[in-house]
Amino acid sequence: MKKIQAIRGMNDILPNQTPHWQMVEDTLRSVLASYGYQEIRLPLLEPTELFQRSIGEVTDIVEKEMYTFTDRNGDSLTLRPEGTAGCVRSVLQHGLLPPQRLWYYGAMFRHERPQKGRYRQFYQIGVEVLGPEGPDVDAELILMTARFWRQLGLKGLRLQLNSLGSPAARATYRERLVDFFTAHQDCLDEDSRRRLHSNPLRILDSKNPALQEMIEQAPRLLDYLDEDSRDHFEALQDLLDIAGITYEINPQLVRGLDYYTRTVFEWVSDQLGAQGTVCAGGRFDGLVEQLGGQPTPAVGFALGLERLITLLGEQGCLKEPAMVDLYLVAVGPQAERQSLLLAEHLREAMPSVRLQINYGGGSFKSQLKRADRSGARWALILGEDEVVQGTVSVKDLRKAQPQQSMSQSKLPDYIRQQH
Ligand code: ATP
Ligand code: MG
Repeated sequence: MKKIQAIRGMNDILPNQTPHWQMVEDTLRSVLASYGYQEIRLPLLEPTELFQRSIGEVTDIVEKEMYTFTDRNGDSLTLRPEGTAGCVRSVLQHGLLPPQRLWYYGAMFRHERPQKGRYRQFYQIGVEVLGPEGPDVDAELILMTARFWRQLGLKGLRLQLNSLGSPAARATYRERLVDFFTAHQDCLDEDSRRRLHSNPLRILDSKNPALQEMIEQAPRLLDYLDEDSRDHFEALQDLLDIAGITYEINPQLVRGLDYYTRTVFEWVSDQLGAQGTVCAGGRFDGLVEQLGGQPTPAVGFALGLERLITLLGEQGCLKEPAMVDLYLVAVGPQAERQSLLLAEHLREAMPSVRLQINYGGGSFKSQLKRADRSGARWALILGEDEVVQGTVSVKDLRKAQPQQSMSQSKLPDYIRQQH
């Protein structure tokens, strides 16, 4: 019979990879805690309308990437393509008062063409601060991400910055941009022509190399910024300079979602090929109001775990952790009967030690082979003699050392000393 495969673009994370994921997740969580941010857990499914209203109808995500279906009640539901909309929805629904410093972690779903660094189910850590409008928050988020990279040992990420200004300034700029692209219509590809009137800023974000030269000639949003946004952007740069964070200003940097205003930033790597953005964020001062709340400035970012872990792997930052410390070998019927209980006692005495027992009997030799394959540092040997004497033998599997025999009650102290 044909074996069933996972859905294209949806990955299993196998047991040899989960320790890497856990290490990264633990590091990110502890950094988030050190800034006093709180976790929020949100549903995977939301009403489709939430994303249409927040992300914007004419974005790639809403136009062609959402997993949308009608449920048994006839309601249109969507698997979340990102977390900001759900986070804001939840804050409004439960009346959480600003300021809020929040983070969430979990799977996101987008029907994109699967390739390296681009999947249909992928994981993000997202961080959102709702309430304050000053550039100090934007700076703090950037410092936090810089701390992520330092704690993980990641090198070579470049920070790109831009400002999208106020909606009004952007509207003026948008007209200039449409004029410019209309004058160069012959050079546009099909995608860009489609976007020319619906979402011309997205043309700046085109990945098509043939368009790059023309895009560089296009009017720059930075030249159209309103005064408040320009001050905000300069103050942010000043804070980053003081903190010793280097950045590049990229006037072409726009985001795939409509709700951004003012600050946008991305952390980019040259080591990941076309999918080089590991982390992306910015301000979305209008979103809360757009979703029915009081006007509330907000800023946040989302970090893609797959790209981050791939990069950590390429830079040799992921260690191969040992899965177990001890493997309990039991030879003979009495020893087999006792081993389960002995293991329980040992776990009680050494809660942080990882202990596997041998399943299903087998000869001494075959059990020792399994002990070796388990990756354990020590084999604990319980034979008929040990059962009679209340002892256990300890064999170091990684160093040539004589086998030791000791009373079962002394074992925890012995392991602690060696550990
Ligand atoms: P891209 O330009 O790469 O399509 P995006 O603008 O759609 O990115 P965001 O919505 O800002 O990305 O998501 C933030 C981060 O989430 C990205 O920088 C990336 O690390 C990760 N990400 C986004 N889409 C995917 C995907 N399909 N597969 C894996 N990771 C993704
Ligand atoms: Mg995308």
